[in-house]
Amino acid sequence: MRILVVEDEVHLAEALAHLLKKNKYTADSVYNGEDGLDYALSNIYDVIILDLMLPKLDGITVIKELRRRGNDTPVIMLTAKSEISDKVKGLDSGADDYLAKPFNTDELLARVRALGRRRGEVAPTNALKFADTELDTAALNLKCNGKEINLTLKESELLEYLIRNKNAVLSKDMIIEKLWGFDSEAESNHVEVYISFLRKKLKYVGSSVQIVTIRGIGYSLKNF
Ligand code: CA
Repeated sequence: MRILVVEDEVHLAEALAHLLKKNKYTADSVYNGEDGLDYALSNIYDVIILDLMLPKLDGITVIKELRRRGNDTPVIMLTAKSEISDKVKGLDSGADDYLAKPFNTDELLARVRALGRRRGEVAPTNALKFADTELDTAALNLKCNGKEINLTLKESELLEYLIRNKNAVLSKDMIIEKLWGFDSEAESNHVEVYISFLRKKLKYVGSSVQIVTIRGIGYSLKNF
């Protein structure tokens, strides 16, 4: 699971990222609302931990903008204030959970787990469908009209990312970040290789789904 921490108190942001990494999550931290919104819109996160009071854009504005653009990544709102009005404002604007500072780290981890699970329920993690095509991310298997083929883990991760963002355009950078992480050595030709493997396998099972190249931008999964 990949988590974005948006918190302007740099020490707290780093401590949170460290805590999450220690608990086997992948975590990135940014320190203002504008960066928070940019990162969140990359659509690669499973949970966002978002501070309420932030420079440039406050947490409420960030979450409203995310929801307006159709991004439904679960958000835990953090705030130094415990007033009920802030809590209500946060939840009204589309936050999924709320935690007042100072908080207990076990409680934060429990809420991250709960939101990760909830997201899992919304879109089952082992069987994803798009048009006539089904991806089983647990069995690493691609199926269409009774025909099937096995996928490698990376192929499955890539197809899962494409299906979850079907019809949207995903850039090579977004794909690299999602599959290999920000600090990886992976390059755009890695993406091209996996896209071409996946295209062959989709064709093999006779899928009506195709990975379309959007020249100069990236890829989009479409049903024909
Ligand atoms: Ca703050």
